[in-house]
Amino acid sequence: MKTVGVIGGSGLYEMEGLEDVHSVKVETPWGFPSDEFVVGTLGEVRLVFLPRHGRGHRIMPSEINFRANIYGMKKLGVEWIVSVSAVGSMREEIAPGHIVIPSQFFDNTKGRVSTFFGDGIVAHVSMADPVCPNLLEVLYEASKRAGAVVHKGGVYLCIEGPQFSTRAESNIYRKWGVDVIGMTNMPEAKLAREAEICYATLALSTDYDCWHEVHSDVTVEDVVEVLTKNVELAKQIIKEAVCLISEQRDCICSNALRDAIITSKDAISDDVKKKLELIIGRYIK
Ligand SMILES: [Zn+2]
Repeated sequence: MKTVGVIGGSGLYEMEGLEDVHSVKVETPWGFPSDEFVVGTLGEVRLVFLPRHGRGHRIMPSEINFRANIYGMKKLGVEWIVSVSAVGSMREEIAPGHIVIPSQFFDNTKGRVSTFFGDGIVAHVSMADPVCPNLLEVLYEASKRAGAVVHKGGVYLCIEGPQFSTRAESNIYRKWGVDVIGMTNMPEAKLAREAEICYATLALSTDYDCWHEVHSDVTVEDVVEVLTKNVELAKQIIKEAVCLISEQRDCICSNALRDAIITSKDAISDDVKKKLELIIGRYIK
């Protein structure tokens, strides 16, 4: 049975329609994830759901324990993660209510811990193509089937937050060529790659940030209003997507660590091996 993880962002705090549902509390070497995982089945698929900000939306983007979230997914056997994320649009043609499946990320966060490595082990995974190409296609196809207006590809800029951008920042980001802006997909995508989990984002456009001269500047109220309408669509897309995922993982994500660990095997301490067993065990015995 395939195990698919869903990380719910703003507006998506639970997944209805699962069967045999139970909650799982996971402890990791990096502490506790954002909340308990909800595990259930959706048709032929085992689905593991985690609300990124915790139930009730208690955790700021900068406070999210990304390592615990991704490690918890790994521990529960997840091989694909669909990251559902509210974003601001940086382009006229991406209107509020549209779906974007980004193909690239630009990490403009400040000082978030973005790796499982360190403390005696060094690894450099490739992030040239940070999104799983197969999962991106699946999300695109599923969005079309669900009747969404969907944009395939594009750059997701991740800022630290929690404040929205200044107008100067927003205009400069547009010159950088980004398509959508959010606060959470980095370092999530980096950690998923290190954990060899396929990762792709279903980005829900909620507003035009503050660059647009006609639309008013983004407020939490606008974001919530569009999200409320869009969350049902996101759930429908997820239902379509899980059926479309191919069980065979032949993508770069599935063996991202194969040539990435640069530390000599005999220089890695037993403590580190034990702590990272779930992630590096295939390569370091
Ligand atoms: Zn993949």
